[in-house]
Amino acid sequence: MVTEEGRQVSFAPSLLECDRCMASFPGNAFLIGRPVYVLSTGVELPVQKELGWCHQCQGTAAIEDLDPAKLEQELQDSRNRRLASESELKDRLRVLFRRPRSDIESLNKIERTLAQTIVLQTSRHNDPRCLTCGSQDVLALPSITADLSGRPVNTGFVHPGCIGRLWHSFSPDMRLMMTPKRVAYDAQGRRLSDDMQSVPA
Ligand SMILES: [Zn+2]
Ligand SMILES: [Zn+2]
Repeated sequence: MVTEEGRQVSFAPSLLECDRCMASFPGNAFLIGRPVYVLSTGVELPVQKELGWCHQCQGTAAIEDLDPAKLEQELQDSRNRRLASESELKDRLRVLFRRPRSDIESLNKIERTLAQTIVLQTSRHNDPRCLTCGSQDVLALPSITADLSGRPVNTGFVHPGCIGRLWHSFSPDMRLMMTPKRVAYDAQGRRLSDDMQSVPA
C-alpha cells in the first residue's frame, strides 16, 4: 500500500482485543502512513508494511514486510499489461492510437520502483523491524478477514505474555480522517533522525 503525500485518507478504525485480560490495541491505524527508505543515492522507495506485534512496544505496530513475493507479482502484472498494450498498438495505426509518452514513462517509473524495492528486500539479511521503535523483536499478525458488520473475529493470535486470543473488530459507521505522514528510514529499516528528513511544504 503506497499512500500519496498530503492526501487525506478516511478509514474505519479497527481494534484488537484480548479475550482474557480485555486489553485492546489499535489495528489498521498503524498502516496509515508513508514510510520510505531513503537510499544513499537519495532515491526514495516505499516501505512495505504489515500489522504485527512488537515485544518492545508491548502492543500492535506496523512492521516491515520483507517478503518480495507480492511486489514480484505486481511487477509481473505491470510488465504483462504493458507488453499486451504495446503489441496491441503495433496492430493499429500507430499515429492515431499512439499511447501518450508520459503514460509509458509512468509505467516505467512504477516498474523501476518495484524492481528497486524487491532488490532492497532480498538484500536485507536481518529481520523486519518495528516501524515505531526499530526493534527486531516482532511477529507478523495472521492476515485478518474482517467481518463486514464489524463483529469481532478471532485472529487466533495469542496475546504475548497472556494466554488470551486477540479478536479483531471495527465500527463500520465510524470514520477517522488522517493525513499520512512521510517518515524516513535507512535501507536497513532504521529510522532516520528528524533533521535528516525533508520537511514537506
Ligand atoms: Zn491478554
Ligand atoms: Zn516497537
